[in-house]
Amino acid sequence: MPTSLPLYSAQLIDGHLVAGEGLVEPIVNPATGELVLSVGEASLEQLERAVQAAQRAFAGWSRTTPAQRAATLLAIADAIDANADLLARLEALNCGKPLHLARQDDIPATADVFRFFAGAVRCQQGQLTGEYVAGHTSMVRRDPVGVVASIAPWNYPLMMAAWKIAPALAAGNTVVFKPSEHTPLSILALAPLLVDILPPGVLNIVCGGGEAVGSHLVGHPKVRMVSLTGDIVTGQKILQAASRTLKRTHLELGGKAPVIVCDDADLEAVVQGIRTHGYYNAGQDCTAACRIYAQAGIHDRLVAALGDAVGNIRFARKKDADNEIGPLISARQRDRVASFVERALGQPHIERVTGAAVHSGPGFYYQPTLLAGCRQQDEIVQREVFGPVVTVTRFEHLSQALDWANDSEYGLASSVWTQNLDKAFQIANRLQYGCTWINTHFMLASEMPHGGLKRSGYGKDLSSDSLQDYSVVRHIMARHGELLD
Ligand code: NAD
Repeated sequence: MPTSLPLYSAQLIDGHLVAGEGLVEPIVNPATGELVLSVGEASLEQLERAVQAAQRAFAGWSRTTPAQRAATLLAIADAIDANADLLARLEALNCGKPLHLARQDDIPATADVFRFFAGAVRCQQGQLTGEYVAGHTSMVRRDPVGVVASIAPWNYPLMMAAWKIAPALAAGNTVVFKPSEHTPLSILALAPLLVDILPPGVLNIVCGGGEAVGSHLVGHPKVRMVSLTGDIVTGQKILQAASRTLKRTHLELGGKAPVIVCDDADLEAVVQGIRTHGYYNAGQDCTAACRIYAQAGIHDRLVAALGDAVGNIRFARKKDADNEIGPLISARQRDRVASFVERALGQPHIERVTGAAVHSGPGFYYQPTLLAGCRQQDEIVQREVFGPVVTVTRFEHLSQALDWANDSEYGLASSVWTQNLDKAFQIANRLQYGCTWINTHFMLASEMPHGGLKRSGYGKDLSSDSLQDYSVVRHIMARHGELLD
């Protein structure tokens, strides 16, 4: 079945779809462990052609008007909508995620990102033009950076592609995009449609691994900016490589979201919220509600109710609509999750509430897991697991919860749950995270900035802030002298 899907070719270079001439990468369906097909990576020569094409295309694309670029982005959104079913099927096949969720969540959200940036680029605002020096008029322009290398992860392949490609193109840059080597299928299916929408070279897509292809892209002297969503270690490598040519960087790295649950929280809402947003996408989400701090008065009731709720999360069922989550992306990732849990349960104070085992059937599933009794210094509390594993830590006083929540190398997302709005704001305002939700978690809006602090990186995805990241401020000053009378 998989090979009959219309996958066309494996790279988009200078407006042409071409087969990759580099190493061959096997693509596996994580829900079954079966090989779907193989994708040829870009050779270094193809990579070079992609960057050169992007550089040539920059001259024309950077001079289009916002209205022209908006029309192009809207056409891409329409193409996504028109092919939503195929794209959702490929996303499900390549990530193992439930098809109904890919249809309902990933694909509409992807199209919306293109539509948002089509609008946002037409209504940017900025500093006033004026005579800051007598007889001289100053004005500020926002211009594109140049060729942007965009490198994406595997957890939401098409949506992450949109987060990177849409603002970069909207701002007038040209792009060489590299999907994760694990999940190129959906963007490759979109590529033939893009050929008809975009001028050649404006968006190029190259496939391949991080070291084999990504690192050469980052090191290329004609690439002026690198945008990565990925692991902290990858971010560090990219930063180092980019420093050699002083490239602008935009890094969206990992997360370990704290969830502070106060005694007066609505227990049912908390349980429902964590069950959904701690385990969505099998926890392979940088904002996953995975590090719970529960106040003493609600702690025991929360652990009991959440344990029951998590224990009945549905997965690995034959009928797609019955599944709430999918597998991990690979056997390696599943085993990494399993080893985190094994080490955690080696601590006498940590209690398994539910889960904590590899699923016995085919595919790379891991049981949704809840661990209680965790302490702040435990590895499982400190490090990103990127799997369906949530920990609970008990606290007495809010100041302690705040200290623990902020005591993390990560700074992407967080949430606070209380029915007292004053308390909610007192906590939310002191959390050192790029986003804090109150009485909810993991709700994104294309209009709102998404991005981290600390080692979660910097730079914003989504929102008009992202347009700023993908553009540079320039000052133009004209001498015209004083008015004579
Ligand atoms: P990863 O860092 O392994 O890979 C991300 C991308 O970087 C891939 O395309 C990979 O090929 C490429 N890459 C790897 N090494 C490279 C190198 N040396 N040079 C250039 N490119 C290189 O991450 P992953 O495993 O695909 O994704 C999981 C990570 O992404 C998690 O840590 C997660 O938290 C993070 N993530 C962050 C966000 C966010 O918005 N902050 C969103 C999704 C995922």
